[in-house]
Amino acid sequence: MNVYFPLFLSLLCFSLFSCQQASPESFHDNNVIAHRGAWKKAGHPQNSIASLREAIRLGCEGSEFDVWMTADSILVVNHDADFMGLPIETSTLEQLYEKELSNGEKIPTAAEYLKEGIKQKKTKLIYEAKPSELGRERNFLIAQKSVELVKSLKASEWVDYISFDKDICRKIMELDPDAQVAYLNGEKSPEQLAENGYFGFDYHISIVKKNSHWITEAHQLGLTVNAWTVNDSDDMKWLLDHGTDFITTDEPEMLLEIVQNRN
Ligand code: MG
Repeated sequence: MNVYFPLFLSLLCFSLFSCQQASPESFHDNNVIAHRGAWKKAGHPQNSIASLREAIRLGCEGSEFDVWMTADSILVVNHDADFMGLPIETSTLEQLYEKELSNGEKIPTAAEYLKEGIKQKKTKLIYEAKPSELGRERNFLIAQKSVELVKSLKASEWVDYISFDKDICRKIMELDPDAQVAYLNGEKSPEQLAENGYFGFDYHISIVKKNSHWITEAHQLGLTVNAWTVNDSDDMKWLLDHGTDFITTDEPEMLLEIVQNRN
């Protein structure tokens, strides 16, 4: 036998193993997260399926959306605690269906939103779990239902979770140790986040600018850095110059152009 054959065999095994381990993802890598979908320029309602489709069409790295839980424990997508004047947490889905978005869509359920998002594989789905206004216990349920839903739809590969609420973040990480969870509230240092198993931070731009050393610290700890909600081109350029991984914006078209012109 050729003396090199065992070496060749081990290299082959290593390569195959490496390939299996490597992430199969083919997502974009352009820093741009559309805030509540891409709605502003296109004239779509925020957090609508139409705004998600537009973020995908533009080729954003990710599309962010906000999730609440109805009185009958259905996860739905909307920014505010009320949907067209109806309080989400104390209304059933059927009651919420009495109203509609300006484009005629009903309030999307998180299931419908995720199902639409996983039809493609270029734009990630940035799932913001909104803390309940009805008490802490409900936050654990929101986290649990969210993880169950994402898993049941086999959407984990698309989804990064974000939340202002530590309990929700912790519960998601506990239920799905592979989940990528970023914290929104802004008071935790990268070191604290790393200790708690976070994927990264997703802080208001004023906090990122005030603590710009956190960007390097986060990267050294293997964390990602995201800033919101950045609609000014100078701010976008500052963040890109400082190595920010993701920028959440209502102006994804503008940021995509800035990013593309830098490449
Ligand atoms: Mg949000």
